[in-house]
Amino acid sequence: MIQIPEQGRSPDDVLAELAARAKADTDWRGGRVFSLVYKLPGERGHSHERLLERSHALYAAGNLLNPMAFASLKQMESDLVEMSGRLMHCAGAVGTMTSGGTESILCAVAAYRDRARRERPWIRRPELVVPQTIHPAFDKAGHYFGVRIRKVPVRDDLRADPLAMARAISRNTIGLVGSAPQYPHGVVDPIADLGALARSHGLPMHVDACVGGFVLPWLERLGRSIPQWDFRVPGVTSISADLHKYGYAGKGASMLLWRSAEDMRHQFFVATDFPGGVYASPTMLGTRGGGPVAAAWATLQSLGASGYLELAREALDASDRLRAGIRRIPTLALLGDGSTTLVAFTTVDELDRSLLARLRDLAGRGAPIYAIADRLETRGWTADRQHRPPSLHLTVTANHGDIVDDYLADLAASVDDVARDPSLVRAGTAPVYGMAGKLPVRFLVRSRVRDVFAKMYASNRP
Ligand SMILES: *Cc1c(COP(=O)(O)O)cnc(C)c1O
Repeated sequence: MIQIPEQGRSPDDVLAELAARAKADTDWRGGRVFSLVYKLPGERGHSHERLLERSHALYAAGNLLNPMAFASLKQMESDLVEMSGRLMHCAGAVGTMTSGGTESILCAVAAYRDRARRERPWIRRPELVVPQTIHPAFDKAGHYFGVRIRKVPVRDDLRADPLAMARAISRNTIGLVGSAPQYPHGVVDPIADLGALARSHGLPMHVDACVGGFVLPWLERLGRSIPQWDFRVPGVTSISADLHKYGYAGKGASMLLWRSAEDMRHQFFVATDFPGGVYASPTMLGTRGGGPVAAAWATLQSLGASGYLELAREALDASDRLRAGIRRIPTLALLGDGSTTLVAFTTVDELDRSLLARLRDLAGRGAPIYAIADRLETRGWTADRQHRPPSLHLTVTANHGDIVDDYLADLAASVDDVARDPSLVRAGTAPVYGMAGKLPVRFLVRSRVRDVFAKMYASNRP
């Protein structure tokens, strides 16, 4: 039980309790967590954390809801748009900062829908044509805004299939989407082909570079072969790119960029009959906290291109060493082409099975890879489990350079555990995740997960 205390407590007392509470969380500084936190390594990590805290604090009360009152915040937002636009090869790009990838995507989908209402007024059931591997933020946007998210199977190389997407375009289509890269397997979709397809149908196209936007440009400069995905591709209308991922900014920071002001117009919302006055807003939020804007601006200025290049080099090196180590474990197989800093792998057995599963379903069994995940967790790692095929995912950052050898040793030991005791596949989380990946029970999974959430929020006790 807790209620607002009758007498306020001293700031020192409150801060001490916060620090103590934070200890209950996962140790995100130590590099044993992936995908949730993007951190600079070592001493650089320490001083960057201080920069984020102080820049955020300077603007914690600021509100970008009114760009006239907070002209300095609006200027920082414009600076962020210009810096990101140039990085993605469009000096004249326009756009907004948002609170995260999901908000960038929500804004983009709403704008595409409204654009279609103007340009294609005959459409009653708007559809976005997307690859199967698209992020769930698009499902969320479709759910909120009444847009059907038409998912198209990907090719064997796990990249979007432009021919199949072409066949999915109908008179209800309002736009196309590709990812750079897609999250589950870290491969970059063939954006140039998708852009050409969009242009040939007179459709706008969004590139979801939420995870890749602030790392692919540096990987390309490091000589990695990355297919073109940004505004250099003529058909690309808009790009979402998260500053709070490989931009190493504070949380609550993403960019939604548009090639032209004409394309962006549909993003603005204006209410004119509010007794409180005309109310206009470019994003989902009303009040927009100044802290994340200032912290993101401070990050780009503080790291600079040379800082980002070095961080990308370290992340790429760590991911390459992880991939090399995984390749040396005979029962494991990498997914994707290994061109980015995202690593995904499965068991060889699982790869065989995912082919077989199309013919016959092996219901009720767990997957060895999930048993391996359980064993990794007992060794102090957080494991990001994926479906289709059952696999594990690592979002590798510069902060993971120091953990590569430990991780690979623990991974090899976990693989041995499961090889020695196959009953582990029927224990722990393995059967649950194995089941969840199978089609016929996925509607059950949805209601079960809703129950779990309802319970978590009903008691207010996680
Ligand atoms: C992270 C991510 C998103 C969503 O971003 P949030 O910041 O979590 O809202 C969307 N697309 C891709 C590819 C992502 O990796």
